[in-house]
This record gives sequence, structure tokens and C-alpha cells, in this order.
Amino acid sequence: MRNLVIAVFVACLGAVLYLVLNFFVFERQKPIFQSLSSLPTHWNLKDDLSLRFSDESGIRSYSVEVLLDSQILFSQGEVVLNKPKNFTLSLPKPLTELKDGTTLVYKVCVSDWSNTNFFAGNTTCVDVSLIIDTSAPQIEILARSPKISRSGSAFVLFKVKDLALDSVTLSNGKNEFRAFRHHFDGIVLAPDEAVYGAFVAWPLENVLFEGRIKAVDKAANSAQIALNFPKNLTAPIRKSNIRLKPEFLESKLRSLLEQISNVSYEGFADDKERFLFINEQARSRDSKQILEATTTTISNKSYIPYGISPFSALKNAVVVGYFGDERSYYLDKNLVSVVYHMGLDLASVRNAPIFASNGGVVILRQYLGLHGNTAVIYHGFGLSSLYAHMSDSTLKVGDEIESGDIIGYTGSSGWAFGDHLHLEILVQGHAVSVQEWSNPKWVQESINAVFEQARARLLEQNMLRGQAK
Ligand SMILES: [Zn+2]
Repeated sequence: MRNLVIAVFVACLGAVLYLVLNFFVFERQKPIFQSLSSLPTHWNLKDDLSLRFSDESGIRSYSVEVLLDSQILFSQGEVVLNKPKNFTLSLPKPLTELKDGTTLVYKVCVSDWSNTNFFAGNTTCVDVSLIIDTSAPQIEILARSPKISRSGSAFVLFKVKDLALDSVTLSNGKNEFRAFRHHFDGIVLAPDEAVYGAFVAWPLENVLFEGRIKAVDKAANSAQIALNFPKNLTAPIRKSNIRLKPEFLESKLRSLLEQISNVSYEGFADDKERFLFINEQARSRDSKQILEATTTTISNKSYIPYGISPFSALKNAVVVGYFGDERSYYLDKNLVSVVYHMGLDLASVRNAPIFASNGGVVILRQYLGLHGNTAVIYHGFGLSSLYAHMSDSTLKVGDEIESGDIIGYTGSSGWAFGDHLHLEILVQGHAVSVQEWSNPKWVQESINAVFEQARARLLEQNMLRGQAK
């Protein structure tokens, strides 16, 4: 009896001592799970997926249970050697073959070397759900432009088949282009299929064009196919020499510098410095803003779902400057600057109305240093059009416009020699030959025929699928 009392007393003392130690001495910080945000939702079973844990007292052991439909498929666990403070666990791959689309749940628990919890240590458990996806996306070109020219554009519509796509992009060998989801009315696609379209540019400054479409899914499976356009390598470059007259410089530069520069007219050393400020500094500032608008604010919405009309913004217009003109500016007899003209200059009467040739949404509406009063309209599939040197425009960013609407009125705001419209066409930030986009034959063959051919191809596939059922 006495022995029993002593035994109980010792046991109680031990318990109290343990509780005291547990609360005041034993480390009670659970292992920290480090990598929650970077985990994918899908797994190709090829790449290693790992979870990282850290703990000050060191990691003692881990266990993994893999569940399929709430049943344990397999489990694994062991004591970790050397008490590591940082521990990386590679998720074990299932040994049996599983169908794509199967969801596996990994229940992972990691314990540390603390004596708390009756010497079992602190434990952190995480559940990770992963959808098995071992197949790469399949890309099928439905239709594309018959060719591409240097400084020009081309169009492609294609189908991608995959369980869970992550990104679809095009490349010209140097620059990347986003592809845009497209829906054709009356076309039924399988649930894992989607149609994409994009304009792709071959900018004047690139010597080569190597077209490619790339699709990557959420399990990092990727597929690529070549976009083999026949190529026309000659860029439409015309050289022109512009002599800057002192009277013109005096009147134009004074008012323009007042508007756009912090430095006054007198603050510049001479006309050459004033001119270079406008033609180079203001130009590059404009370019940054235009690039930003035409690459980051563009959306999946297409205002040109069935094709486009040739761009002809002015009625009875005369072309006074072409895209790709290499302009050499002279002051007295000295060459001061050489720039490429990236738009088409059109002139008719003063303050002539500028018409929208295609529907779109206004993505930039601002006074820019070189371009003056400017509007940029986004049409879809990465295509934007820019209207510069306007005297007036009532448009605001976000306004949706339809073909035939008035964009504004021509003028000579910004760095303009006389009342005219500077029209630019941009494909995801790259200025391209406007001559193509204002040519009805090119527009029909390179754009509108592509919509028609892609639609015909999808209809045919719909019919074949219907017959197969
Ligand atoms: Zn121009």
C-alpha cells in the first residue's frame, strides 16, 4: 500500500514536472511549411515536386499518405538523419499508372526533435491536392496568312487541346506575342479544346523571322510548332532628307517646348539641342507610353470577331509620308538626326474628321510630346491603331467605338509640319507597315480569308464528329 502511494506520488510529480518543462522549457514551435504558393495544381509526374519545411530544433521524421478517392493508395514515412534545420521532401510518385485527370491528395506530416507532446515533438501537417496531367497540349493550325513581309504582319487561328492550359504564346524568333481565346458562333468544341488567334509582327529592326506557337499547361507539359510563313525579306524603306528651316523651328519649337519640357526655349544651347530633345527624348518617352498601352492594357475581348476593314481614316486623303521612311534631318547643311517613320501620314483638308475603320476600345487618349493629341484604339488579337497630331478629340479611355465613328479631327499638334494625320498600326507594341493594313487585297487575303478558312475547317470537324457518333 505504501509502495503504491509512493508510486502514485512519483508519477504525479513526474507529470507535473513534465508539464512544467513542457510549458516553460520544451520548444513548442511547429515546423514551418515554406512552399505553399509555388505549388502547382497539376503534376506531370516527370518533374520532382517537393515541399520544404524548417525547424529550429531540427526535423525528426516525416510521413506521407497518398489518397485517391479518400482511400489510401500508398504511404511512406521514416526518421530523418542528422536533425536538419531545413528539410526538403520530394513527393513520392505513384507506382501504378493513373489516368490523366485523377486527383491525388498528399497528406504530409513532419515532426521536430522537441520533447513536447510526450516526446513526440511538434508536428505540422499539410494536404496537397494534385491533378495528374502527363500529356502535352496539342496544337493544330486552323488557318494562317499566306505570307509575311519584313516590317509587316500576319494572322493565325489555331486550336489547342489540353486539360488545363496555362499559357499560349507566339514568337517571331525575337519577340513574344500573347495569343487570344476566340469563339466562333455555332461551332462546338470538346471541353478540353479551345481556339486561339493572334496577329504576329515582323518588326523592321529584326532581320530574321522564325515563327513559332508554344503552349504550356498547368503541369508544365509544353508543345511547340513552327509557324512557317513564306517570307518576303525586303522592307519598304525609302530615304528622305528633311531640311529644317530656322523660321519653322523658331515658331514650332518655342510653343512645343513650352508644352512638354521643363526647360524653357532659352534654356537650350541652340536649335540643334531643342530639335534633338523633341525628336529623340520626347520620341522615346512617347514610345514607352504607347508600348505600355498596347501591351499591358489589351484584353481578350475582340471587336473584330469575323474580320476587319482596311484602315482608311481620312476621306479623300493624300499620302504625305510612308511607314518605314528613313528620315534624315538637316540643320543648315549638317545631319543632326536619323529616324524611321513608323506610321502613314495622310492629309486632306484642315481639321478633317478622322473615322474609325474598325470597332474597338480607346486604350490611350493623351497629349504626347512628339505625337501631340493622340488616341490609341485596341481592336482585338493584339491589334491597335494610333491617331496622332489631332486638333481635337472627345474620346476618353474606355470608350467603345464602332466602325464609322469619328475619332477626332486632324491638326498639327506635337511635332508636325502641317495639318495631317499620323496613323500607326501596332501589333502588341510593335509598329508595323500601315501600307498593308490599308490595302483591301492584303486585308482580304491575310486576315479575312483566315477567319473564313478557320471557320470552314471547324465546321468540317464538327460534322465529322457528328457522323462518328
Ligand atoms: Zn507621321
